[in-house]
Amino acid sequence: MTPLTPCPFCDPAVQAATFAETERFRAIYNIAPILPGHSLVIPKAHVESFMDLSDEDTAGLMIFARQVARLLGKAFKAASFDWTIQDGLPAGQTVAHLHLHLIPRKTDDLPSPGDWYPRLEENEMGLAGGIDSATRTRLKAHEMKTIIDTLRNVQS
Ligand SMILES: [Zn+2]
Repeated sequence: MTPLTPCPFCDPAVQAATFAETERFRAIYNIAPILPGHSLVIPKAHVESFMDLSDEDTAGLMIFARQVARLLGKAFKAASFDWTIQDGLPAGQTVAHLHLHLIPRKTDDLPSPGDWYPRLEENEMGLAGGIDSATRTRLKAHEMKTIIDTLRNVQS
């Protein structure tokens, strides 16, 4: 399916943010992470909703995401994660391309464990502007490259 409007996750620029991939999925580092390690797992094909994935791809996405979580856990020394899919506009989805947020968590990383969600909503607004958008504080190109290079070399 081809998106009606330019999709930031189908843009070739997404390659530069990719640190792990399979034939059908990729993990990209969030250019404006709400916490260190905040990444997105997405299908390579333009799929809007989690509900549109085949059973095989649903399993594939989750198995890959768990591998990515292990990799992020090693790289960011975390054993806890928030996993979320905002599936549909009323649920807070702003980019019409399925994405699973994976956020490594540590004790006392935020005043309250649930404080991640308002930050995530703000992040979603930024994602809608595209991964190269400058609508909010973002990692600089060299910072992003350092993180991606590091993650690409982590043995999961
Ligand atoms: Zn897309």
